[in-house]
Amino acid sequence: MKPTKAKPEAAPKLKKRKWIYVQRPAVYEIAPCECGNADPDWSEYAGRLWCKACKKDFVPAHNGIFDGPIAVNACRMMGIVFDRYVIKTKTVEPFEYNAKS
Ligand SMILES: [Zn+2]
Repeated sequence: MKPTKAKPEAAPKLKKRKWIYVQRPAVYEIAPCECGNADPDWSEYAGRLWCKACKKDFVPAHNGIFDGPIAVNACRMMGIVFDRYVIKTKTVEPFEYNAKS
């Protein structure tokens, strides 16, 4: 099977998030906090994560799978989804898998 080229985008920096992915940052292999907490939360600011242990926002050392081309169908098979929780409307926007190419 050919991986698709569709690429969920990493959020731009220093803006308040309008949405977060429904799964936790660790699911997408985004870098942990330097304190060793490997399961941080999404920060309210785009491009940042929140460490509960340190009580601070931090910029992760890398963005895990968002740093490269993402084989979304392979991710789906591994249980990784890109559905978004929209903060304002409190609704989930399903990620649209591109059937072609
Ligand atoms: Zn920490």
